[in-house]
Amino acid sequence: MSEQAFDVIIIGAGPGGYTMAIRAAQLGMSVAVVEKDAGLGGTCTNVGCIPSKALLHSSELYHTAAHGFTQHGIKIAGKIDIDLPAMMAQKQSVVTASNKGIEFLFKKNKITWLKGFGKLLGGGKVEVDGESKGTYSAKHIVIATGSEVTPLKGIEIDEKQVVSSTGALKLPSVPKNMVVIGGGVIGLELGSVWLRLGAEVTVVEFLDRILPTNDGEVSKQMQRVLAKQGMKFKLGTKVTAAKPGKNGVTLTMEPAAGGDKEEVTADVVLVSIGRRPFTTGLGLEAAGVQLDERGRVKTDGHFNTTAKGVYAIGDAIIGPMLAHKADEEGMVLAEILAGQKPHINYDAIPGVVYTWPEVASVGKTEEELKAASIAYKVGKFPFTANARARAMTMTDGFVKILEDEKTKKIVGAHIIGADAGHLIQELVMAIEFGASAEDIYRTVHAHPALTEAVKEAALAVDGHTITI
Ligand code: FAD
Ligand code: NAD
Repeated sequence: MSEQAFDVIIIGAGPGGYTMAIRAAQLGMSVAVVEKDAGLGGTCTNVGCIPSKALLHSSELYHTAAHGFTQHGIKIAGKIDIDLPAMMAQKQSVVTASNKGIEFLFKKNKITWLKGFGKLLGGGKVEVDGESKGTYSAKHIVIATGSEVTPLKGIEIDEKQVVSSTGALKLPSVPKNMVVIGGGVIGLELGSVWLRLGAEVTVVEFLDRILPTNDGEVSKQMQRVLAKQGMKFKLGTKVTAAKPGKNGVTLTMEPAAGGDKEEVTADVVLVSIGRRPFTTGLGLEAAGVQLDERGRVKTDGHFNTTAKGVYAIGDAIIGPMLAHKADEEGMVLAEILAGQKPHINYDAIPGVVYTWPEVASVGKTEEELKAASIAYKVGKFPFTANARARAMTMTDGFVKILEDEKTKKIVGAHIIGADAGHLIQELVMAIEFGASAEDIYRTVHAHPALTEAVKEAALAVDGHTITI
């Protein structure tokens, strides 16, 4: 029996896979997507971006109602309480709506969902094991299989007492105390959720600072602000064992550089030390697809793998593990396959940490510019000097803009503050268009707005802020 044939078969329906599928269909290709999970949308939709942001928003509303209203002259008569099952149901409804939205887009664009686990057979063939069992062929095959939690040696994740981000998104009750291993994005976001809901949260970080890939000044400020909220930190520390028991998990930790051991007990331990590409069972070897030294699918800068006609995008390949990076790569690869010549500017990919306050960055950090011996100018502006931030009682943080002294182009921007995730987009655009700080401050900004802090930071690059 001959197999059903498509122009493109994509393995994985995360942001990379589903965006590519839609764009390829728009460009006239026949497209199938192999997905093993029950809901389309991948890590991001099911156990990542979407459910975590739903819980971050709900927990922030609770925290503001409980602690932030009196300052604004709002009194609450009764006790403010948490209905955790209702909060979880709200989160799930957001996930389900997103799953259904992607399913609708598949139908609208005539994309075939091959339900089951996909495996490369070589020679342009993919085998699917599951509801859509069978062998299928395509001119182009795309690996968009994403990533999975990086395990910590000697520590078993049971998703009950010792959880990954997936377990931390569905705890049945608020733990009295929680230890977070890893002070990166997941640790701080999900640590914040449970801190706001009443848990005592301690972050154990191997390095000497949290958010180690962010600008150093931002990391420091972030730690200060989170500490003010009650989050505790143990930096330069490594966890060597975690034993779950009736009275919680007993953790053994010691200084990263070696030294005396210490035991700590926690109701719940979150392991968030990073993610690694997921390619298990894909049949890469037989298909001639090679991995690099870090287990990522090797690509040539244009998404070609080492096997002809097989491509890879998203978390499975080199680059930041971000949903918008994956979806951009999906869109661009679809256009390349259609004969177009699109591009991605990897220097202009924003990163946002959705804590309170948010942290957002794009381009180079000061540390990176120094290491590359690039002469630069810094412009900084604090939200305490922004009238809108004061009206919102959200004055924590600052905007920092880095301009290359020679080319006069903005090469980096780092924001910690209210709505930083939205504010950064102006600076992403600036980098994309090769703008200078002057281009930003000659652009009229509405008043009163948080965006004026961006304009003032740009003015600060040239040494003449107005409101400070
Ligand atoms: P994935 O989303 O991982 O999708 C891969 C898909 O492939 C999955 O559905 C999987 O089931 C499927 N698959 C794998 N192998 C096979 C196979 N052999 N056969 C069939 N199907 C297969 N990023 C952001 O930009 N913003 C955020 O706010 C954010 N928050 C996050 C919060 C958490 C808790 C986590 C864990 C991640 C978060 N991320 C965030 C990262 C983001 O989720 C990933 O970068 C993004 O999902 C990567 O997209 P992808 O398409 O490469 O892979
Ligand atoms: P991460 O790389 O952001 O942070 C991991 C942290 O763990 C680092 O600070 C690292 O120094 C530390 N660490 C590593 N080994 C350790 C050890 N043995 N003991 C203690 N600390 C240790 O990884 P993550 O937070 O797990 O997130 C995984 C990926 O998911 C990231 O690449 C991130 O981009 C993505 N993500 C993005 C968002 C977002 O965009 N808002 C949210 C969540 C996740």
